[in-house]
Parts: sequence; structure tokens; C-alpha cells
Amino acid sequence: MRILGIEGTAWAASAAVFEYDPDDPAPLDADQPFIETDAYQPESGGIHPREAAEHMGEAIPAVVESALDAADGPIDAVAFSRGPGLGPCLRIVGTAARALAGTLDVPLVGVNHMVAHLEIGRYGSGFDSPVCLNASGANAHLLGYHDGRYRVLGETMDTGVGNAIDKFTRHVGWSHPGGPKVEEAAKDGEYVDLPYVVKGMDFSFSGLMSAAKAEYDEGTPVEDVCFSLQETIFAMLTEVAERALSLTGSDELVLGGGVGQNERLREMLSTMCADRGAEFYAPDPRYLRDNAGMIAVLGAKMLAAGDSLTIEESAVDPNFRPDEVDVTWRADEAS
Ligand code: ATP
Repeated sequence: MRILGIEGTAWAASAAVFEYDPDDPAPLDADQPFIETDAYQPESGGIHPREAAEHMGEAIPAVVESALDAADGPIDAVAFSRGPGLGPCLRIVGTAARALAGTLDVPLVGVNHMVAHLEIGRYGSGFDSPVCLNASGANAHLLGYHDGRYRVLGETMDTGVGNAIDKFTRHVGWSHPGGPKVEEAAKDGEYVDLPYVVKGMDFSFSGLMSAAKAEYDEGTPVEDVCFSLQETIFAMLTEVAERALSLTGSDELVLGGGVGQNERLREMLSTMCADRGAEFYAPDPRYLRDNAGMIAVLGAKMLAAGDSLTIEESAVDPNFRPDEVDVTWRADEAS
């Protein structure tokens, strides 16, 4: 089967085509899935929902056309991000997906964006039932599969991890996105104390960000604040990831989300997994940041399981949680 995936939850107007044989799933490579992305870049500040939606409206037709041009034959289904994400962006992508499915006369598949971050890691790793750390812009959580659902084992109590980092870099006057700039600056930094906030299996970033801004305002070199931000935030995520492995008995960890492109985070997770005899897999960066490839990959599995939507059922949901998803495509797998 050949699936067209469309992503547009925040900054990435993206379309992809994925060829999937459920009986003989091919490995991911540089051409498969084909992905075309047009990124929204704010002129100043962070992501503005109205501007991001305008970008979606302008960019989606061209990226979809590229994906359709790259397809090696007719499309069997259209998969799209139903949420979570920015409402104005989701509505544009939902409308585009419904129109395309109608025009092509193929099924419509509604994908949870955070479950797609997880499933592209599971697909690439070949792991059976991993714990997943999704470290993205608007989210931060640990997921584990049990009895037909992905359960949230731990999550942020306030902002997403990337958004927290981006708030600090806006304060410093750096352009969006801030994560890569913090990673670069951290290479020359030394540690200063910042609040480390893990409560049970959950974590919090807001007090930590206020403290980081205060350190900067008091004259601590920005390299030192960046280094300390990374060490503190990533240690919090690594601690909870380790406890999630321990709690579930799983010995497989996959990483998802745009912050997963950070080498220091990957190093910490990889070291933790090696220390406890677990396996760690981080997908290629093009599958970590928002991309339609992950929507097409999960869309294909859902279609193979007969999991599609009528137009009436296809409303988008800005607060669509991963634990609300009925995991139809793993019905035959062990729990
Ligand atoms: P979500 O998937 O939750 O909807 P999102 O739409 O913001 O999040 P992602 O592409 O998953 O998108 O993540 C973007 C975030 O990743 C931004 O906050 C950005 O600063 C951060 N980021 C990108 N590269 C790095 C890096 N090298 N180190 C740390 N953070 C990074």
C-alpha cells in the first residue's frame, strides 16, 4: 500500500509518501518515506499561531504536490495529524486531508502526532515493546504500551521541554528555534546550580526557566547557563526514563521529538541504557523533528488494521492525548 501523510501541527508544513507491505515491512532509508517540508520561521519571538496557520495554508499545497509527484503509483489512503497541536494549523491540515481523500476517493486516517513520534522510533529500531521518551517542542512525556493503549508513565507538569528552552533563548534575544543555539553555546559552559524538579514520575520546567533567566540577568555567562540548562533538564528526563524502564521491566528505550536531536540528551540516555543493560534507539534527526514521514508510517499501520475515519469522525483535536488512542495496529502483538 502507498500512503500520503500530511503533518501540520505547528511549524512544519510537511507531506510524505510511504510504501508499506505489512507482510514484509521495508527498512527506512534516505528515499523511503519521501518527505517534503516547508518550515515556518517566525520573524521575531516564538511561534505565532495565526502566522503559523497562514504558513500552513500557503505551503501545504506545494509540499503535497511534491509528495504526489514522488509517488510511484496511485495513493491508497491519506493520513493526517489530528492533534495535539495548534488549532488554527490543525484545521487547515484537516481540511486539506479531507479534500484530498475525497478527490482521490481513498480512506482518511487520523493520526495522533505524539504516537507517530513513538511509532517511527519503534519502526526504525525493530524493538518489540519499548518505553518511549518524547522530548519535543510542546510536549515531554514517557509512554509505555499496555493492554491496547500507550500509557503516560510520566509527563511535564507545565510546558513542553523545547518550548521551555525556547522561552529562555527569547529572553536572551536569540531567534527561534532556541534548542540548537543552546546546544552550541553549552559546549563552552561550566555548571551553575539550577533547580532540579522531578516529582514522582513527573517533571516541571517553569521554575527552572525562571531561575535560568535570573542567572543570565545577574551576569552569569550565557554559555554557563546553557550548559547548566542542558545538564539539569536532560538529567531530569533521563532519571524518569530510567524509572519508566524499571517500572515496566522493558529493556528498550526509543527517543522521539525535536529536542531528541540534541547530542547531549542522546549521550545521557545512551549511557543510562548501557549501564542497566537496556537498548537505546534514536531515529535519524529527520524523523525526530516534526515530519510527515512519521504520519505516513503510522497511517500505513493503521490502514492495514482497518483503522480509518469517516468525514464526520475526522474533527481535529488540539489536546489529543496519546493515551486516548485505541492502538488497533498492535492487536496481534504481545502486550
Ligand atoms: P510537538 O512535536 O510536541 O508538537 P513541536 O511541534 O514544537 O513539538 P518538534 O519538531 O518536535 O516540534 O520540536 C521542536 C523543538 O525542538 C523546538 O523547541 C526546538 O528548540 C527544539 N530543538 C531543535 N533542535 C534542538 C537541539 N539540537 N537541542 C535542543 N532542542 C532542540
